Amino acid sequence: MGDVFLADLWCHQVEGVLIEDVLLDGEFVVVRARAVAEWAGCPGCGVVSSRVHSRYVRRLAESAAGGRRVVIELRVRRFHCREPECARTTFVEQVTGLTFRYGRRSVALQAVLEKVALMLAGRAGARLADVLAVAASRSTLLRLIRALPEPVTATPRVLGVDEFALRKGHVYATVLVDIETRRPVDLLPDRSVSTVAEWLTGHPGVEMICRDRSFAYAEAGRIGAPDAVHVADRWHIWKNLAEAVEKTVVRHRALLREPHFQTPAPVLEPLDTTRLQAGPSAGQPRRSGRHSDRIREQHAAVHALLDQGLGLRPIARQLGLARNTVRRLARVASADDLLVGRWTGRTSILDPYKPYLHHRWQEGCTTAAACSKNSANAATAVARASSNATFGNCGMRSRTMTRPARSRPCGM
Ligand SMILES: [Zn+2]
Repeated sequence: MGDVFLADLWCHQVEGVLIEDVLLDGEFVVVRARAVAEWAGCPGCGVVSSRVHSRYVRRLAESAAGGRRVVIELRVRRFHCREPECARTTFVEQVTGLTFRYGRRSVALQAVLEKVALMLAGRAGARLADVLAVAASRSTLLRLIRALPEPVTATPRVLGVDEFALRKGHVYATVLVDIETRRPVDLLPDRSVSTVAEWLTGHPGVEMICRDRSFAYAEAGRIGAPDAVHVADRWHIWKNLAEAVEKTVVRHRALLREPHFQTPAPVLEPLDTTRLQAGPSAGQPRRSGRHSDRIREQHAAVHALLDQGLGLRPIARQLGLARNTVRRLARVASADDLLVGRWTGRTSILDPYKPYLHHRWQEGCTTAAACSKNSANAATAVARASSNATFGNCGMRSRTMTRPARSRPCGM
């Protein structure tokens, strides 16, 4: 009864194995078994043979039992090959479902570790394997992944093409992704036109190519899949938009003004419109901030070198600035002249209400309706201003405010 139970436990999907003994050896459960098939097929020629050459014991790691590691000591036989033309004179029998050539673990445990490796990869997989009482290093798991056959994938209808860095700034390859299934399809060794075009030629059926705006991928698509429609993928559209916005903001950074106060607002008292204060004086340059500080430092450095008799070109070289920048700094007597732009200090109909509106913002009221709820005058001004602008371009820089998590965007 016990033998039947053990045989079913460890070899329930295996035929031709007889379990002889099970014993505890420290932290290990050792299962002693032997192969009992009458014959075995030669892996070289396929001819079956029953002529035994020799016997030896293989040690196979198996899935843990009761928190203990399991080792199967399997006695196998080496057979003579009966085919005279076969290059193999002898071969070792394999037990289907239990052993594989050169394998040091059972087929079942190998499958488990492959799954672990695919799900968690090296280090995390090795930690889980240790919890499962299975010996497998991170290198072993990565080796299992590399040994897996390449999955067969159909040519995608919508193909994503993008580069990825093998060595950032130096070596780039190309990754192909099935946009509909969101799974990678192939990796190409470089990002050249010929490589991508050759892949597309060899995989007809691509109807749409989702890519960035690079010339190489556009040309490869035209050569390899001339009928495919090219579209820009969402990530690159957002990336390009973000770069354009950043470029614009940096260009007009001098025009942005600091908020009236940086500290949290005190507890709001009932609104008294007579206490509302006017905004900052118009037409004044920015007095603080990284940009204005940098302009002032550069202006001072340029004029110091000018006083020493240096020309614009040597100054630009010495300070690491563009010649036009140096020329612009040299042209003005005061750095403040460069910090006053078209919109700097421009008055707004919201100016008298800004302290109150800042106050409301700090309380979490970030919509026009909420901010102007308690003040008819503020409501009128906000309504008029919101028809043309957002809080941001009315002089309230949401970037520097602490916005409550539940708040809505500033734009109205
Ligand atoms: Zn053979």
